[in-house]
Amino acid sequence: MLKMMRRIVQEVNAAQDLEQALSIIVQRVREALETQSCTVFLMEKDQQHVVLMATEGLNKDVIGKVKVPVGHGLIGLIGQKGELFNLDKASEHPSFIDLEGAGEERFNAFLGVPIIHHRRILGVLVVQQQEARRFDEAEEAFLITMSAQLAGVIANAEASGKVGDICEPADKLIDVTFLDGIPSVPGVGIGHAIVVYPLADLTAVPEKSATDIDAEIQKLNAAIIAVREDIQVMQQRMASSLPDEELAIFDVYLKMLDSHSLSGEITEHIKNGLWAQGALKKVILEHVKQFEEMDDEYLRERVTDIKDIGRRVLMYLQRDKHNLPEYPEQTILIGEEVTAAALVEVPEGKLAGVVSAKGSSNSHVAILARALGVPTVMGVNNIPANQLEGVELIVNGYHGRVYIAPPLALHKEFTLLAQEERQLDEELENIRDLPAETPDNKRLSLYVNTGLVADVERSLSAGAEGVGLYRTEVPFMSRERFPGEEEQRAIYRQLLTVFSPRPVVMRTLDIGGDKMLPYFPIQEENPFLGWRGIRITLDHPEIFTVQLRAMLKASEGLDNLHIMFPMISCLTEADDAILLLQKTYQDLREEGLNITYPKIGVMIEIPSAVTQAGELAKRFDFLSVGSNDLTQYILAVDRNNTRVANLYNALHPAVIRALQEVVMRGHEQGKTVSICGEMAGDPASVVLLLALGFDSLSMSAASLPRVKWVIRNLPLIVAEEALHNALSQVNPQAVRRQLERVLIEHDLGGLIWAGK
Ligand code: PEP
Ligand code: MG
Repeated sequence: MLKMMRRIVQEVNAAQDLEQALSIIVQRVREALETQSCTVFLMEKDQQHVVLMATEGLNKDVIGKVKVPVGHGLIGLIGQKGELFNLDKASEHPSFIDLEGAGEERFNAFLGVPIIHHRRILGVLVVQQQEARRFDEAEEAFLITMSAQLAGVIANAEASGKVGDICEPADKLIDVTFLDGIPSVPGVGIGHAIVVYPLADLTAVPEKSATDIDAEIQKLNAAIIAVREDIQVMQQRMASSLPDEELAIFDVYLKMLDSHSLSGEITEHIKNGLWAQGALKKVILEHVKQFEEMDDEYLRERVTDIKDIGRRVLMYLQRDKHNLPEYPEQTILIGEEVTAAALVEVPEGKLAGVVSAKGSSNSHVAILARALGVPTVMGVNNIPANQLEGVELIVNGYHGRVYIAPPLALHKEFTLLAQEERQLDEELENIRDLPAETPDNKRLSLYVNTGLVADVERSLSAGAEGVGLYRTEVPFMSRERFPGEEEQRAIYRQLLTVFSPRPVVMRTLDIGGDKMLPYFPIQEENPFLGWRGIRITLDHPEIFTVQLRAMLKASEGLDNLHIMFPMISCLTEADDAILLLQKTYQDLREEGLNITYPKIGVMIEIPSAVTQAGELAKRFDFLSVGSNDLTQYILAVDRNNTRVANLYNALHPAVIRALQEVVMRGHEQGKTVSICGEMAGDPASVVLLLALGFDSLSMSAASLPRVKWVIRNLPLIVAEEALHNALSQVNPQAVRRQLERVLIEHDLGGLIWAGK
């Protein structure tokens, strides 16, 4: 059963569209349960009716026509209550109503289960049989499991607007195709798509035509020669240790690469206009399919070899620097997993939007996009990446919606919205040089989070009083190896110089979790609970010391450097890190450098650090709360996991209490307490942070003017009352609603992040 179920799900997943997916479902489920009919009903958008969408066994003429009101008949009841019915004679049930024209009179046995995704009823899956009998337990369990697995596929299709397309073909006025996801950076971005795809993944290669056919053929030939050479080297290396029959595999590989077979076919496709990577994908996947269908087991196993050859050739094709895309003036990066590195590669000023399937609003790529003020939607299911290259997109970062090839009217509407945004920014310009001070004279410092040199200009023009978090890993990501001491020193010096005399808080390398360096891969089951941040740098003092030396050297004569350690989970880590810093400082002094010892800080982003905040405050000059990680660790919700994104919320009363504790313990030791997680840039959260007593807030440059506007218009006494109320709320949604009310009452409603 399990095998069969897997096969069905695989087949459904590979379907071109929802219609095809549903027809596979009804066919395969009917076969698997050996019943006479299987039917899928889907819920309409207005949640008022369930519509018969696909059937194998009932009259197909009624597809899309039979609509059952929710709460009526067996189907409508399942759609309303989410319960199942297993009946030997359906027509005898008091709620039974005949589906007109469907031809179900001949059936007696009825098993219907709801299709539920994330607590939402999406539809009903039904099997029917002439024989009057109850379906047995195994059949019931099969249908429930099948329906649970299919729910995800249907939800994805629904999210991309496809359900609506099928349900309402007649009364649709304009054909707007859109994708929904998690609103992650507010704003509107209009531009053309550049598809980001994982390297050496054949299935991810997008369709593109060749601009220069001869050049593409040359690239292919060079890649094939390189792979041949690699294989010959491997063959020689293995000659003494492998028996002849095993060594023969290398000959098979070499034969496959022969110009008369694979490469000949690929070249043909290039000549017909495909780019080399696309032609390779087409040929390899065709061969894979043919081999998979073979009865001979030996030949079926050759699939792995063909895929391997394909990947190797692709790797060389992708290594070619000329393959870097030509970025349009307004580039929207879109793909399964848009990485921070892909974002950094887009030339300055050209990035207009980011859309990613993986990740959520607190993923590092979203944070980076926020720093750049680029509208972003994360967690978007079912991106048809293959067909999007160069297509016009509108990214609505407020509501988490992406429009594909929008019609003119929509285009106009969003252009207007983008203009209004720019106007608000211009108005906020007026408060740029004014302090962040409440009407009742509570003064805070506002800093920026940065990682790109490109942010500097933006930060200064936003009126930042310094840098509250410099994520040093960003320049590490855009290289092909660890940057050396001098290379790092130059980068840090530039930043310290532009901001001087304002303080700059540099955080030591914080990789691991979802921040990977291409040249330092870490494979872990639980990366966020694994080798991350200070744990890596303490284990690699050679990397850590180079960075500390570079920071200290860069500060010579400027004296505005602050150093901060990430992911501290115990006092020993803190002590070890401080010791290493002190030793590095001593060494540099002995080398004759005249450097001032920097102010040092610790990030509070793990619950243990909250509990030991007082002890930590004794050792450091300042505490800085990393609320992004602190939230995920307090709530046990992966900040990067789309599936639990609805549970990730920094306004959870438990998180607010933790913040309260940190501020109190820090102040008891006479130390300053700052916050540099994303909540510091969210106008509603700022109401609480103000009342909690944070000395400084650090956020993206794009958020800073709005946050200052809140502080300048909201008396501390009002914020304190809001904090008091927030602590008695039962959930984060109630806290947010209450804070938004406060903003509205003080004429700050325009700053509310829609969709948050
Ligand atoms: C945080 O965790 O809140 C933080 C600022 O660090 P990062 O987002 O880089 O993990
Ligand atoms: Mg963090």
